[in-house]
Amino acid sequence: MNCRLCDHAALDKLLSLEGFPKAAQYFPDVSEFDEDKGITLVVVQCQCCGLIQLSNDPVDYYKEVITAASMSQPSKARLISRLQPIINRHDLIGKNALEVGCGTGDAVLVMNEMGLNARGLEYSSENVNKAKKRNIPVTQGYIEDYACEQKNDFFMCLNYLEHQPRPRKFLKSINRNLNQNGLGYITVPNFDFLIGNSALHEFVADHLIYFTEETLRTTLEISGFRVLESQLINNDNDISVIVSKNSPLLMTDHMEELTNKKTKLKEFVEKVNSDGKRLAIWGAGHRALALMSLSNLREIKAIIDSAPFKQGHFSPLLHKEIISPKDIDKYKIEVILLMLPGDYASEVRAFLKNYHKNMELYIFDEIQIDKVCMADVDQ
Ligand SMILES: [Zn+2]
Repeated sequence: MNCRLCDHAALDKLLSLEGFPKAAQYFPDVSEFDEDKGITLVVVQCQCCGLIQLSNDPVDYYKEVITAASMSQPSKARLISRLQPIINRHDLIGKNALEVGCGTGDAVLVMNEMGLNARGLEYSSENVNKAKKRNIPVTQGYIEDYACEQKNDFFMCLNYLEHQPRPRKFLKSINRNLNQNGLGYITVPNFDFLIGNSALHEFVADHLIYFTEETLRTTLEISGFRVLESQLINNDNDISVIVSKNSPLLMTDHMEELTNKKTKLKEFVEKVNSDGKRLAIWGAGHRALALMSLSNLREIKAIIDSAPFKQGHFSPLLHKEIISPKDIDKYKIEVILLMLPGDYASEVRAFLKNYHKNMELYIFDEIQIDKVCMADVDQ
């Protein structure tokens, strides 16, 4: 078996627990007594992502949510107190919401009472029929095969993720049913509570995954979500997280900024050229070479670089000769623009002060072009 989360092949076997009930929802009748010998739960941990998991097959009803007949008043009050701040903070009133694995739909009802436009997704037809009898909007299905008509701004998944054999596929399926910047509220049992109490009898065939806050975060982050908040609830028995769907980084502002840089450099170089001075750029690193060709600095006379393996070659696209600092006089360079990252710039300034103290020197710091006064340069 490979890791259920990251597909890594190396799993450490932690425990082999013999004599466990076949499943949480297995209640044998008299005819099954002879066959009911119990099962062995094999607990493994991924060497790569650290996730604790069972190597057992999922129980045959893992897509269904089996809960008590209906949500108690205190449970309902607790759910409301957890959802209310999320709804307020993120302005979710009237927005589409989905509960993934909603059982008979009690929490869907709560979300609708709180002003969301919520529906549930549940695999068990029996649960779906029960919900429908109470006019709770529930669709029969499983998230990995589900595509909603209108995407959601919020989802909820309560103690259901730990049942899933393919947690990443499961979460990515939720993700594709969300709008950009969609949010979610997820709860799972807390493995640190189980192990902190040496409660090994809590391992159960139904729960294939045993999350800590850390591995839950990893799971979510490699499945397209960002964790906004994580806290222990239910007397530390459970972890609850608020997540948001990852959205692509906006690059438009950076493109505008690049255009500004190109304009500044081009104007500077044209000015020096029209003053009749011979200009070289110092720096043949990949950044400087890219920027000088993007800015079309055809007017420069040469590129200076102290790396011998670059000297004597030509720059790409502009085809300017790369020369050694020793040849500055030979090429009659009168103005130098430094385009060097970090510490190199101060070394070059000291070199120029020593050997070319009348050089007109400028430095480009990614924002502006400043004239350097040789007298102020440290040696
Ligand atoms: Zn893993």
